[in-house]
Amino acid sequence: MNRLKEYDVLFENLKSGIHLYRYTIDETFFDVFSSHLKGSGSLFTVVLEINKQETLMQMDFDIKGAMKLTCDHCNEEADFNLSLKETLVVKFANETSEESADVKTIARNAGIFNVAQDIFDFIEINIPMRYIHGQDQEGQSNCGLELEKFLKKQQPKKSVGSGNTQWDELKKIKFDNK
Ligand SMILES: [Zn+2]
Repeated sequence: MNRLKEYDVLFENLKSGIHLYRYTIDETFFDVFSSHLKGSGSLFTVVLEINKQETLMQMDFDIKGAMKLTCDHCNEEADFNLSLKETLVVKFANETSEESADVKTIARNAGIFNVAQDIFDFIEINIPMRYIHGQDQEGQSNCGLELEKFLKKQQPKKSVGSGNTQWDELKKIKFDNK
């Protein structure tokens, strides 16, 4: 389990103020967690900025990278790009308890706070269960099947009967640039 030891933040010895941590995450990181998310082809960079104060630590995570997801429409693999910022507040108290996903309370004498689970959770929650090509932050669909459907729609319909029905339809529409 100590493959995650590098994600230990030894806050006991941390001076008040800003501290920066950097992690590189690949597929092996995801093996440790039992989840449907296998993280195949993952490569993420995590920059963690910790602002240590007397009674709490504010942790700002900046996570950037990509993993391979299988397209639900065409079954091909594609890179899913992710760029996210998350903040976690860790309060020091007499005992450890969990408040919410972004506020945690930890026993002051624990001395160590491991951020691996939090990084995993932040990534997992941003990965869609059902993925279709191009549904990342760029928003452009480049799915082979989607493109096929699109092209079919663009093919002119053969007009049946009284000639220029498509033109007649267009005449009814008011265009803003006319
Ligand atoms: Zn696809």
